Amino acid sequence: MKAAVSPMTHSGYKIARILLTEEQIRSRVLELGKELGRDYENKRPLLVSILKGSFIFLADLTRAMQIPHELDFMVVKSYEGTQSTGTVRILEDLHQSIEGRHVILVEDIVDSGLTLEYMRRNLITRKPASMEVVSLLDKAEARTVDVKVERVGFTIPDEFVVGYGLDYNQLYRNLPFLAVLDPKQI
Ligand code: 5GP
Repeated sequence: MKAAVSPMTHSGYKIARILLTEEQIRSRVLELGKELGRDYENKRPLLVSILKGSFIFLADLTRAMQIPHELDFMVVKSYEGTQSTGTVRILEDLHQSIEGRHVILVEDIVDSGLTLEYMRRNLITRKPASMEVVSLLDKAEARTVDVKVERVGFTIPDEFVVGYGLDYNQLYRNLPFLAVLDPKQI
């Protein structure tokens, strides 16, 4: 079953081009889910999703992981418009202790790496049994801090992308594909 959604059906949105189609995303997320399911069997991992950008990735990943696991959420803010502010604020924290748990941090995108570095440092102080990061997207060229990302869906060029949960000023999250924002919008 293939839902054909073209940019034309989202007429209020201004995108330059589609970077990843729905089908490409779907098959990669299924692979990631299978891998995680295999690697964490009998470990009852806790997926920690960084909202809001990762909500669609998480929804697909959790259904692709066919083992018992739990979910929790954190809301952090590091961007204003298309610029990283360099400081990360936790707007909403986890609802449980992660001590002794196998934590899988679910990110939408790693860009400069500042957000992830902050999150890793913060969560490690809470003494999880293990921690790894799975990020749907990696803008490797844009990295300013050396931070570990154990699993990546796609490495993408250093362009501002929207869709599949990622926003530009809170819009575009509902695009089912990943697109490069028309630079004239920025
Ligand atoms: P970093 O701290 O690595 O520079 O940025 C991480 C956060 O910035 C991501 O979780 C995401 O919210 C936001 N971000 C970075 N690059 C992009 C992008 O190309 N598009 C969107 N929509 N958000 C981005």
